[in-house]
Amino acid sequence: MLRRPHVLAFPYPAQGHVIPLLEISQCLVKHGVKVTFLNTDYNHKRVVNALGQNNYIGDQIKLVSIPDGMEPEGDRNDLGMLTKTMVRVMPEKLEELIENINRLENEKITCVVADGSMGWVMEVAEKMKLRRAAFWPAAAGLLALSFSVQRFLDDGIVDDNGTPVKQQMIQLAPTMAAIHSSKLVWACIGDFNTQKIVFDFTIDNNETIKKAERLICNSTYDLEPGALDLIPEFLPIGPLLSSNRLGNSAGYFWPEDSTCLKWLDQQQQNSVIYVAFGSFTVFDKEQFQELASGLELTNRPFLWVVRPDITNDAIDAYPEGFQDRVATRRQMVGWAPQQKVLTHPSIACFLSHCGWNSTMEGVSNGVPFLCWPYFADQFLNESYICDIWKVGLRFNKNKNGIITREEIMKKVDQVLEDENFKARALDLKETSLNSVREGGQSDKTFKNFVQWIKAEASVQVA
Ligand code: UDP
Repeated sequence: MLRRPHVLAFPYPAQGHVIPLLEISQCLVKHGVKVTFLNTDYNHKRVVNALGQNNYIGDQIKLVSIPDGMEPEGDRNDLGMLTKTMVRVMPEKLEELIENINRLENEKITCVVADGSMGWVMEVAEKMKLRRAAFWPAAAGLLALSFSVQRFLDDGIVDDNGTPVKQQMIQLAPTMAAIHSSKLVWACIGDFNTQKIVFDFTIDNNETIKKAERLICNSTYDLEPGALDLIPEFLPIGPLLSSNRLGNSAGYFWPEDSTCLKWLDQQQQNSVIYVAFGSFTVFDKEQFQELASGLELTNRPFLWVVRPDITNDAIDAYPEGFQDRVATRRQMVGWAPQQKVLTHPSIACFLSHCGWNSTMEGVSNGVPFLCWPYFADQFLNESYICDIWKVGLRFNKNKNGIITREEIMKKVDQVLEDENFKARALDLKETSLNSVREGGQSDKTFKNFVQWIKAEASVQVA
């Protein structure tokens, strides 16, 4: 009998990190690798609760957890605090967990695949003499920018706190998205404190991530040639989509509401605006109402994901009478099966916050974008969409910092009436899907990655 190689997969504790790593985990299982998936206790409960009775993941992958070090009621959307606390508490817990598993199980953990923003996990894995790979769930371009921190300091673009002191555009390579210095990831992730923590952490992480023996990412060479040329060791295996293995996407923190798929079946082809802002974005009441009024003004059907926590008072945040006025052409859900929604033929465009997963999912389905970035790397992704791939439009804010209903209507009309957006989006879909098809570049890279995991891990036992 052959002992399988055993991977411990460990995402950063945020929705957009859990989903793609669980996708990779399911692909690894398909290739004969045993996977144990590690969440923080807090997220583990959410994932298991959201799966409910239908915990099919648990049949293939053991779901385990360790504490993140935060108080039970701590604000886990405070990424600075979360990141700082985790590094203090989790390395020891992680080591204990691996030791326990390896004491009890026949198929011992041979390899750790952890989020690239947690380089400290690579240190633990190295210490324990395990194979180690880092998975980067964001754009390759974001890591290229992170690796350039020292240069930004040397050139006086940012100060020691990461505060942008020179106001300028930054473009590391001609085919890479350009961003303004004020939109560097740490500079738009929260208050000054958070900025400083994330900036310092980026500098540390640039070192610890080097301990990874493999560095994989959810991208393709065709989408990001410039960024990938800058980091030759990067191995793109994207786009990571559950449809590649004819399965469902999993790891949701909120229960999915799939009734919207039936509603989409009743809509005309290429007619619906899909509106979703990922897992972090929050709106104040004024902007939320303006968005609702903008959608109303478009006179088009729309499917809008309104997470329970998207605004402090979502229930009565809608403009008066809005629900009745749009009743025949709208669907609102708390959490959609987004990957399935985006493959639906009735979807015409994606009004998105431009998280990297959403970006890859929209691109892989040939759907033009309307970009509404909220924080962190989403401005970089917006620039890829609008300036490099030219498959979407950005919104402009008015002098009060609001995206108005008229601006929303105007840009929706513009992106849907100019057929070039759809044509380019379909080209990009073909290119990105080619890479994950049998024999494509991402497909080959992933299979090589599996071989690397398997090498020397299979041991003949009696
Ligand atoms: N997502 C989903 N249903 C929703 C909204 C989002 O399944 O209603 C998924 C989406 O498909 C993506 C992830 O949640 O895989 C969000 O990741 P992304 O990087 O786009 O944004 P983040 O949440 O990290 O800001």
